[in-house]
Amino acid sequence: MSDSTSSPRKPVVGVLALQGDYEAHARAIEHAGGLSREINRADQLAEIDGLVIPGGESSTMLKLIDYENLFEPLKTFGQSKPVFGTCAGAILIARDVINPSQASFDLMDIGVERNAYGRQRDSHIVALQAEGLGELEAVFIRAPIIRRVGSEVKVLASHRGDAVLVTQGLHMAATFHPELTADSRVHRMFVERLNR
Ligand code: GLN
Repeated sequence: MSDSTSSPRKPVVGVLALQGDYEAHARAIEHAGGLSREINRADQLAEIDGLVIPGGESSTMLKLIDYENLFEPLKTFGQSKPVFGTCAGAILIARDVINPSQASFDLMDIGVERNAYGRQRDSHIVALQAEGLGELEAVFIRAPIIRRVGSEVKVLASHRGDAVLVTQGLHMAATFHPELTADSRVHRMFVERLNR
């Protein structure tokens, strides 16, 4: 049977599955029209069109990344393919990290401060306006604050004057957890970047 109306193939989106809430991301990717793959070995990177680095604890994730010899493969992947970092993932893809300083992939020209909201506001949920998406509910959990945004970085949403959803080229970073709400529009934005 001819298949002249077949839809384009779904993008395959990896989720770094070493630590943190990668399962919730996998579900959000599927809702957003992508196929999700858990990634914990370098050879699996050849099979994906883009990668989500989830929230969790960035220092722990870095230790596991080193242990699995994934630092250089992940950095190299991000130099040619889209990466979406959320919360701890945003810390890992930033150029500079403080509080304390630690290694990162330097995929986006942003500077982040870890655990920057302080104890009183460790976790909070707010409504945000995001460019191209409208109103979003954003869940912050021991979140970083983006303290510096480079000239190539586009800010899509801010909270209390700080950028919380940013893009640069094909990469995206969110300091909140879009995988923890039923709304998959932020993931859809990433999946749509992967449609070739
Ligand atoms: N506080 C964590 C860190 O510094 C990030 C928290 C999160 O991902 N929810 O890595």
